[in-house]
Amino acid sequence: MLTTLKRYFGYDTFRPLQEDIISHILAGGSCMVLMPTGGGKSLCYQLPAMMMPGTTIVVSPLISLMKDQVEQLAAAGIPAAALNSSQSDAESYRIRTMCHEGKIKLLYMSPERLMMELDYLIHDITVSAFAIDEAHCISQWGHDFREEYCQLGELDKRYPTTPIIALTATADKLTRQDIVTQLFGEEPRSNFRRFVTSFDRPNLSFTVQKASTTQNRHSSILRFIGSHKDECGIIYCISRKETEKTADFLREHDIACTIYHAGLTAAERDKAQNDFINDRVQVVCATIAFGMGINKSNVRWVIHNNMPKSIESFYQEVGRAGRDGLPSDTLLFYSYSDMITLERFASESGQKDINLKRLHCMRDYAESTVCRRRILLNYFGEPDGRDCCNCDVCWNPPKRIDGTKLVQMALSAIKRTGERIAMGNCIEILRGMSSNVIKKWHWDALPTFGVGRETTTDDWRDYIMQMIHYGFLEVAYDNNSHLHITDLGNEVLYGKQTVQLAQPNHDVVEKKKAKRRGSSATRDIPAMFQDDPAVKPYADPALLQLLRELRKSLAQAQGFPAYIIMSDKTLENIAIDRPTTIEAFGRVSGIGEYKQQKYGRDFVDVIRRYIGK
Ligand code: ADP
Ligand code: ZN
Repeated sequence: MLTTLKRYFGYDTFRPLQEDIISHILAGGSCMVLMPTGGGKSLCYQLPAMMMPGTTIVVSPLISLMKDQVEQLAAAGIPAAALNSSQSDAESYRIRTMCHEGKIKLLYMSPERLMMELDYLIHDITVSAFAIDEAHCISQWGHDFREEYCQLGELDKRYPTTPIIALTATADKLTRQDIVTQLFGEEPRSNFRRFVTSFDRPNLSFTVQKASTTQNRHSSILRFIGSHKDECGIIYCISRKETEKTADFLREHDIACTIYHAGLTAAERDKAQNDFINDRVQVVCATIAFGMGINKSNVRWVIHNNMPKSIESFYQEVGRAGRDGLPSDTLLFYSYSDMITLERFASESGQKDINLKRLHCMRDYAESTVCRRRILLNYFGEPDGRDCCNCDVCWNPPKRIDGTKLVQMALSAIKRTGERIAMGNCIEILRGMSSNVIKKWHWDALPTFGVGRETTTDDWRDYIMQMIHYGFLEVAYDNNSHLHITDLGNEVLYGKQTVQLAQPNHDVVEKKKAKRRGSSATRDIPAMFQDDPAVKPYADPALLQLLRELRKSLAQAQGFPAYIIMSDKTLENIAIDRPTTIEAFGRVSGIGEYKQQKYGRDFVDVIRRYIGK
């Protein structure tokens, strides 16, 4: 497995779980793989495809995604192809012939095409595995539901012994379960397993800025882009109009940008996407229609001009930055008026309750006074006991107090009611307020009744929010929002851990604004990484620039986007390692045999000339 990894993909080690997943597939197992965007999902089915006889069929929802993957595989010397409706008969005939001859290791197609081909092409060739990319499209709970995906349950019945691999970056528990049921039924085959990696993306930084007027958003955007010179990024906007407004503003400041939304013609959308992928524009101002087809690995930043409707959407969107693992920044603007708009959307949607809950989780993230990454990771069910040092709260922490007693009061009140109360009743008990519910259940007789009288209702709400964010409490959204104490919470309750809480600050908006004015919200980020030599060994910028130019000319000659030739990360590794022989070039992380042979000479020449050898 390691030999194949180096030969075709150029890497020396697997990322967490990749090795387990691949071994499982090679042993004939089926699985669901949950990894964040950029986590390295593709390799989990591409590598076994190279080791098994026959062809792996990859189901993908978009032609642009297929194209990107096929180009990327071709650039690594792997025989791959896509069958889709945009091809001529001659082209599709050529691909089918190659499949029949066993020359294609990975074949991409849409779910509807796969269903059509089940009795034809698929029937006639040896299928080594089925990989279902963006598997959340099968679920109505997911954010990208596609009717065509629903037929994929058929595969399990027709190919009971062929590995079926479902992959997604969606972390939502309901969606995860639904994917499995839809693909494998209530009782999945005996060799089915789930693999879930951490959803953490340590290379992404998180910043939230309260911004009420367009003007202060715009000036922050300018500052932010100013600190990302020549680095491309995406600005997500709530509406088509907003994308146009933002793009007009950027153009006035000579920033090369384009817009993307569902109201454009297909040709206009293709052009926008291609301009972005090929680095002809620095910025794309887009609605959420933009993204799933974007595998560009060197997106360095993502701004949300407006708040997304859920943490899933937010994380998927910011996840498009930094797929190559290099430091990348995210900035979210948060305003009360966006919140109102989104609440209305959620209320008018078919699934009001669940959508409002999702939105409120997003609001909790935006309003948080604890490390933002902790909130995200808690949300994805992986509480981590540490602050990340790579978000605005960590850089600019609010005042902290010893909150152990406060947490114990609240948790004890919750425990004594049998964990049957939501936030409102909890605060009533703590503050000693008698309501009908309190009387009905005799909660006014509890020893905790009134112990938190000194603290105001608003402060309690803030503290309990923090307890949820810290992972001491869980909200049972499906059961009247009752609060449940987690294992971590019990540790605090029984005095095994102390806790620092942020002092509530109810006029955060004003204070934060004042604080921010002097210093850009993002200026600290590059410094952060420079402070830590372990994160980034030195790559000579002048050499890196020469290598970038070489990559660009190679890309243009072949008609590929630059990142397909090799990622920014690989380019940086070359600049750090400075190989002066083709053999040494082949040892750089990210360079496989094919790229070594194809590009070694050119790169080595540039490096030798640069260092005067
Ligand atoms: P996903 O499909 O999960 O969004 P990708 O498969 O596109 O992520 O992988 C993201 C990036 O990580 C790619 O540039 C890929 O080459 C790189 N990558 C994957 N596996 C490894 C590994 N074992 N070592 C180093 N880089 C890897
Ligand atoms: Zn943090």
